[in-house]
Parts: sequence; C-alpha cells; structure tokens
Amino acid sequence: MIPAFLVLNAGSSSLKFQVFEPGPDGAPRRLYRGLFEGLGDAPHLVVRDNTGAVVADERLDSGGFGHEEALLHVADWLMAHRSGHRLAAVGHRVVHGGMAHAGPVRIDDAVLAALERLVPLAPLHQPHNLEPIRILRRQFPDLPQVACFDTAFHRGQPEIAQLFALPVEVADLGVRRYGFHGLSYAFIADHLAATDPALAQGRVVVAHLGNGASLCALDGGRSVATTMGFSALDGLPMGTRCGSLDAAVVFFLLREMRLTPEAAERMLYTRSGLLGVSGLSNDMRTLRARAAEDPRARTAIDLFVYRIGRELGSLVAALGGIDGFVFTGGIGENDAATRAEVLRGAAWAGFRLDEGANEAGGPQITRGPGPQAFVIPTDEEAMIARGMREVLDEAPLPAL
Ligand code: ADP
Repeated sequence: MIPAFLVLNAGSSSLKFQVFEPGPDGAPRRLYRGLFEGLGDAPHLVVRDNTGAVVADERLDSGGFGHEEALLHVADWLMAHRSGHRLAAVGHRVVHGGMAHAGPVRIDDAVLAALERLVPLAPLHQPHNLEPIRILRRQFPDLPQVACFDTAFHRGQPEIAQLFALPVEVADLGVRRYGFHGLSYAFIADHLAATDPALAQGRVVVAHLGNGASLCALDGGRSVATTMGFSALDGLPMGTRCGSLDAAVVFFLLREMRLTPEAAERMLYTRSGLLGVSGLSNDMRTLRARAAEDPRARTAIDLFVYRIGRELGSLVAALGGIDGFVFTGGIGENDAATRAEVLRGAAWAGFRLDEGANEAGGPQITRGPGPQAFVIPTDEEAMIARGMREVLDEAPLPAL
C-alpha cells in the first residue's frame, strides 16, 4: 500500500485539506485538494483532483455540523476514495509555535500541551488549529501527527529583530516579535534555491499579499526581519486587519470610545484594513473594479500600496540593500496593478517594471541592470508535506 499524507489547515469556519503521496523522487505529489466551508452554518465540501477536476461537491445539513463532523466526514471520504493508499500521517498548519519551535515537530502529549499554552498569543487562530489534532488523537491514537508553524521560519532572526522596547518582565512573558506566513516564505526560499541559486544567496524581500499580508527580508534564504510581529495584526494593512498601529490608538478605543477589549480586538481584526478604509470590501478584486468611481476604494488601495513601499524601505535597510523582490499570495500572484504600483514606487531601489511581463504574470516582471522582481505562486501545503517528511523519515509509519 502506498502511504498517503493528509495536510490540514483549519480556520474558524473552514477546513482546507490536501492529500499527497510520495512522488518518484520521494518529494510529495498532490492527489487531492479540498475545502470545507460554512461550518456551523451551511457546510459545503468541494474536492478537486490533481488536474483541478471537481471530484466531490456536497452540501450537508447544517444541523450540528461543526469542525469535528467535517473532519470525520473528510476522513470517511478519503477512506472511500483511496486507491491502494493507506493514511500514513497527518500534518497541520499551526499558526503559533512560540520560541521553542524553529521547524516542524511530531505531536505528542507534551507538545500539544505546550501549543495549548500559546493560545493567548494567537486567540483567534490557535484554538482552531489545535482542535483537529485533539479530535484525531482521540479517534486514531496511533496515527502520527505533525505540526508545522507559521512562526518557525523566523526563529533564526537576530535577537534584536525579535525584541520590543518593553520592560524585561513583559518580554519574559513571551511578548516579542514572532512573525508569521513562515510556511509561505520557506516555500519561496526553497523555490529560489532550486530555480535561481545566485539570487537565493542574496538579499530578497518577499511580499505575501493575500487576505493576510506581510513582507519578509531573506538574506541567503533565511528570514532576518518581517513586518508581522507579536500577532498577525501587525505590519501591512490587510483585508480586514489594520496593520501597524500606534499603541495609543488602542487606549483611545477603550477609553474614549468605551469599547470593551473584545470589541476593540474585533474592530482591529475584522472591520479594519481594506474593508475599513473603503467601507466597501476586503476583496482586492472588488476594490479594483470600483476604484475609478469610488474614492474610498481608491484610497484603500493607495494606502495598501503606500504601506508596502514604506515597509519595503525598512526591510531594505535591515538587509543593507536588495537583489530581488518576490510577489506571492492571492493579490501578489494575480493583481498586476498592485505589483506595478509597488514597483513604480520602488524605482529608488533600481527596479524597472516590464509592463508586458507584469501583465502576463511573470515570472520575471522587471528588466535592466538593477534588482529584479518576480511573481512566484506560494504553496504552504506542499511545505507542510515536506516538513512531515523531514520529521517522519526517521520513524516507521503504522498502517491504518
Ligand atoms: P488568504 O490570505 O485568505 O489565503 P488569498 O491569498 O487567497 O487569501 O488572497 C485573497 C486576496 O487575493 C483577495 O483580496 C482577492 O481579491 C485577491 N485576488 C485573488 N484573485 C485576484 C485577481 N485575479 N485580481 C486581484 N486580486 C485577486
């Protein structure tokens, strides 16, 4: 039987999954990708095979259908559709690995308990990521599980890049810059190492621009600085998150607007960013379609691009120069207008946009003697599958 590896990415109302088998070179090869949306409301499962063809499209009765039911439904679906495969292991995207994890880890009771202690550092994401781990441990105690973290890639940053200027006793409680989107940045670093080893050795800024958005400075393929910090709220404005904020704004929300801490948190995470500024949408496609006639949509886009430019300057300073820029994520991969606006603003660093190549989607979208910019689609799930292989290669895999 061929071992199959399940990768899970659990959110507040969705469960994304992918299934891999070992390819001829041992590298993970994708069999299926699926999305379970509308959990707790109108559950809808769509699964595609590796050609992109839809192989399942099921709308389920919402009555009591939450994450546990969705996970077990996916497990049943996989069992019914395996062809000569056995489920060998499950890998999870876990947002926070804290200071302890600079790479993927096999989950046992102690690891799980430690990850639960990190919930206060990522209260909106970590509980959803850990729930499927607990459910699978209960249902399939012998099934190996691996956690891959959004924070891990940044753990090699210089200490000074991870510090806030706060009293030591606060830092000792774990209040420091962790950074996120690390699976995406690790994928891009690996991709550059395989396709452009000279650039991979150099100074590269990667822009992961999706609903969540951040920039990361890579020096020789290692993260040296990033725009997200203690939480995934920091740095760039995002779909619904505010990005960097003067901390005194939070006191204003609490004291003058009399918001509870929970209401202030909801505002900054879910009603700010592109949505808050435009008053219209968190979706770049909608904003682009309306920008000509709606000044607020235009302002939201302009602020997004302006902040990318400002943060880029900061990361170029941290790197001491720049050799390459990579766009990735839903906006970075698809929105040629955002890429063009960012690169025109970065002409000071020597970037010369190639309009035609940019409209065509790259991969290289600049020309001339200066630093070059590229579009590279990210693949966080493939990175999790690689991380699982790293952790599990040593251990024999039980059959299910
Ligand atoms: P997430 O962070 O949730 O994974 P994605 O990486 O899928 O999000 O990015 C979602 C964003 O990508 C949305 O703002 C969406 O409008 C934008 N996007 C996707 N396709 C396009 C496109 N063709 N043109 C412009 N923006 C796009």
